[in-house]
Amino acid sequence: MKVKVNKDACIGCGACENICEGVFKIGDEGLSEVIVDVVPEDKVESAHEAVASCPTAAIEEVNE
Ligand code: SF4
Repeated sequence: MKVKVNKDACIGCGACENICEGVFKIGDEGLSEVIVDVVPEDKVESAHEAVASCPTAAIEEVNE
């Protein structure tokens, strides 16, 4: 699983980082960044939760 954040939609609320630390991180611009290439197996469930919880639907699951 891979994820990406649409920075035009992100409002920097930090929910994704709280839910799925180690995959999402609020960067210098105050917006969420994905800090891994592939989501580790033990983070997949919380990454899905982050996708569902983002208030602006800024996180997209990328299927290859
Ligand atoms: Fe941005 Fe959504 Fe993460 Fe909030 S939950 S920081 S809006 S990507």
